[in-house]
Amino acid sequence: MRHCCDRLSSVVEAGGSSVQFDSVYREYRVEILPKAFWIDLSFCPFCGAKLPDSLRGDFFVVPSPDEKKRLSALVGGCKGRAELIVKFGNPDFVYAPHHSADPIFGGTISCRSGCLYKNLSTTAVVRVEFTEDDSIARIAIESKCLRPDNDGT
Ligand SMILES: [Zn+2]
Repeated sequence: MRHCCDRLSSVVEAGGSSVQFDSVYREYRVEILPKAFWIDLSFCPFCGAKLPDSLRGDFFVVPSPDEKKRLSALVGGCKGRAELIVKFGNPDFVYAPHHSADPIFGGTISCRSGCLYKNLSTTAVVRVEFTEDDSIARIAIESKCLRPDNDGT
């Protein structure tokens, strides 16, 4: 991959820098918090050149309105975490409730516990968030990422 200038090339190719290049999505970004928060770059921080458009959109399939309805009804018919597992098996990813400092605006970002099912649909990932007593708080039907190294999170 050719980058816009030698300085950007040397920084992204050396690795370990906070300026990173994702060759799959063709995106440049600055790491604000290690492995946690990035900002995409539109222009080279060294020479000011416009950077190429991201290919990220090419890696997502979007569920149809009918598929969203089908999945919402399927998952929404469950009362809580235990029933989901009985019906659909263990989710592909589980996350605990967490709180973290907001690096940009200050304050705290809070997330409920939740899980992801990646294989209930060919075009969607189903994200379910739970209340403290494991009832379903929210169901989100999200676009599915087809990136080969994507972990779905
Ligand atoms: Zn440059």
